[in-house]
Amino acid sequence: MTDCLFCKIIAGTIPSNKVYEDDDMLAFHDINPEAPVHVLVIPKAHIPSMDGVTAENSCAVAKIFEKIPEIAKMAGITNGYRLISNCGEDAGQTVHHLHFHIVGGTKLPVHIV
Ligand code: 5GP
Ligand code: ZN
Repeated sequence: MTDCLFCKIIAGTIPSNKVYEDDDMLAFHDINPEAPVHVLVIPKAHIPSMDGVTAENSCAVAKIFEKIPEIAKMAGITNGYRLISNCGEDAGQTVHHLHFHIVGGTKLPVHIV
């Protein structure tokens, strides 16, 4: 996916402030943080959104979910966090490579959306 921003970040052609990386995923600080800690976790495989998760690629998503508690700690979160994945137009997804926002580092407003 040569035209995908997050694939370029994975390839290193666009720099990022990395929190964690392994063969399956990359976690890096969001360029426009909406909380004191705002990290994005992405699979190295290009999956366009949650709608693109299948039996064939869900292993990458499972590995991300297994690692998220550790990534949150590495980013300095000690008192809870919110995990968000915007999928599609109505959710306001702007980068079409599956990503999970980890936001925390402060008391977040209580809401369901
Ligand atoms: P979405 O709106 O698709 O759920 O989230 C995309 C996120 O990617 C946004 O929070 C935005 O700030 C972040 N973002 C966009 N471009 C870049 C970039 O070049 N580097 C980093 N680190 N984050 C980016
Ligand atoms: Zn991509």
